[in-house]
Amino acid sequence: MNPILKNAKYCISLMAVLSLFTNCETEVNYKNYQPNYLSSIDATNLPAGNKPMTLFEDNEDPALMYNKKDRWFRVNEPLQVILKGKDSVQVSLYSPVALTDVNVYAKLPNYENKFVLFHFSKIPAFHRSVHQIPLVVGKNDYLLENGKTLTIDKIEGFSSGSIEFSVTSTDPLFAKFKKIKSNHLVQFHDGYHINEYGKYLPMNPVLAKEAITMIINYSYALSHPLYYQTFTNFDKYKQEQSTLAGTAINGALNWHGNTDDLNGVYDYYTKEEIEKIYWNYLDSRTVYLAMVGGGSAWGGGPLASQWESDYITGHWLGEMSIWSHEYSHHIGFSHSSNLANSGEGGGQQEMLTHFYKYLIYLNDLPFIDPEILKGWTKTAYLNKKDYKKPVFKISPNNPFLLKYKGEGKWN
Ligand SMILES: [Zn+2]
Repeated sequence: MNPILKNAKYCISLMAVLSLFTNCETEVNYKNYQPNYLSSIDATNLPAGNKPMTLFEDNEDPALMYNKKDRWFRVNEPLQVILKGKDSVQVSLYSPVALTDVNVYAKLPNYENKFVLFHFSKIPAFHRSVHQIPLVVGKNDYLLENGKTLTIDKIEGFSSGSIEFSVTSTDPLFAKFKKIKSNHLVQFHDGYHINEYGKYLPMNPVLAKEAITMIINYSYALSHPLYYQTFTNFDKYKQEQSTLAGTAINGALNWHGNTDDLNGVYDYYTKEEIEKIYWNYLDSRTVYLAMVGGGSAWGGGPLASQWESDYITGHWLGEMSIWSHEYSHHIGFSHSSNLANSGEGGGQQEMLTHFYKYLIYLNDLPFIDPEILKGWTKTAYLNKKDYKKPVFKISPNNPFLLKYKGEGKWN
């Protein structure tokens, strides 16, 4: 950071421990005032006091990833900043790729402007550390969003709600995170394989890293304007597909619900219902990621499960059909709805898969390169030992490729 010398200095004097402060609203002309900002932090190189660690190390005890109180994140906030105790923040990055140039802002009640609490030059992939809030140490200067300086006196400590955090970054990956509209809460749940071992299998940090990478990409895909446009005009998509194929429309013309089809009579949703259903996919519900072991994958309620092969290689190739199906069970659709099932003539399973592959082709997902995790090489942690590096190739018949011809990247 290179703050320009300001001629205005704002000051806050604190009257009591928590938030009862008065603003010195008068602008003082401190022509020669040199604001004393805190120095930038490189999270790749932290002292032990910050308790730096890597989440989901390959050999980490899986009990840690299954601890739902400790390991959770919202898909639109892979960089999570939470109050830890009364005087510290815990920073956790649920991302397989590092972030650079990150500002963590704080906002206090009774003062409208947020200010830079920490600047991180770099936060490594899957990093976690704890940082004392500088406000509890003493009086200091803080940079406001508008470039001005705020001076805040020492505050003894914070309780939840008495300080709010937000994050900005110039990193292009962060810009992709910001586009994710879903705020699903992601956790891992061991109850499935504990209660029904074989039907489900235990996961480990190698698989968890792949699952996190996949769900961030998937949530980005669902948030994509082209997906929204196609989802809310699925009848048009079906029409175009049949025109291209030179055939009549196969099966349902549009999205329909869980009522069994009756000789081609479907319980079609209205435009308004379809719009609402789209947002159900992106709401704040909790999803438990699990792994299948038995005959078929399962989803429903918070559960969405996936095969080991799809976690390790499938999602890098855009093979998201089963995931889309199980996730749609999780949203509330059964096999009689084309939102879950591919059904006659293809439903969301098929459409999402084509779309996801088109996004890989466009290089328009947060994570495209399987080398960032190299999951297929980590055979000690996998049930199947002979995975190959996934190499993506798009089909020339991909309906999104045929329609958009390389256009449509989310800028
Ligand atoms: Zn099913």
